[in-house]
Amino acid sequence: MTGTLFIVATPIGNLDDITFRAVQVLKSVDIVLAENTRHSKKLLLHLDILKTIRAFHEHNEREKTKAIIGEIRSGKSIALISDAGTPLISDPGYFLVAQAKKEGLKVVPIPGPTALITALSASGLASDSFTFLGFLPSKQTARVKLLKSLVGRTETSIFYESPKRILATLTDMHSIYGDSREVCLAKELTKVFETIQTGSIPNLIDYLTIDQNHQKGEFVILISATDKIDIAEAETQLNSLLPILCAELGASKAAKLASKITGIDKKQCYKRALDL
Ligand code: SAM
Repeated sequence: MTGTLFIVATPIGNLDDITFRAVQVLKSVDIVLAENTRHSKKLLLHLDILKTIRAFHEHNEREKTKAIIGEIRSGKSIALISDAGTPLISDPGYFLVAQAKKEGLKVVPIPGPTALITALSASGLASDSFTFLGFLPSKQTARVKLLKSLVGRTETSIFYESPKRILATLTDMHSIYGDSREVCLAKELTKVFETIQTGSIPNLIDYLTIDQNHQKGEFVILISATDKIDIAEAETQLNSLLPILCAELGASKAAKLASKITGIDKKQCYKRALDL
């Protein structure tokens, strides 16, 4: 009989946020794979579970996968957990799960907390459609490029951000999105200092700078969708601007300038310019 690979979600702060099923599975498996064995040992001790815990992290995931698959084939059941929340969500496990699926092994998810959904559920921002982009790039140039590419998005955008860069990121967001866009900062979710602030970017910058402690902890950032009226206005502006700019500057320069003025993606402006 082949074993099973369980993908088990664990708390993102409050240890009571573990499901009965997660506890049952962690008790029943032969091996627990964890990012940080010391950290996960504390969780298992809290749950009265004595189990072999093996290190499984981004630096050894590829190297360990073959042996783990072999163990599952030989009948062992294995649970993968991460330091917090759902494995594979900005955490290791993708390579292992992809290989296990390719080899026809049983992969069973044990659902539970994940910071992005916890934040979204209490943010007050539209939750019918959203994009999760993981951690924002740490380098400013790449971060600004990514944030700019999201200007016209019609769904909520969600990111993880380090406390080291939270203020710099909000400042970049302000220069790109201005004062009107609603943003939510969800900090230390399910923990003692949980704070979920939704407001304009200048208000959130004030919140972060008024007390240095406000910049500490774990953060999820959510950006509201572009207002559909704004998009319609930008389209109208583009329709009237583009022919004039094209006549003076040619398609490429016109598209660049039109994109700057309207906020509509440069490639889209260029395509429209060529179609004129
Ligand atoms: N696997 C996790 C999940 O399911 O959400 C995410 C792991 S990722 C390595 C860690 C990042 O998630 C943190 O830097 C932070 O951005 C976010 N995060 C995790 N726990 C959080 C919490 N309690 N409050 C706010 N953000 C949290």
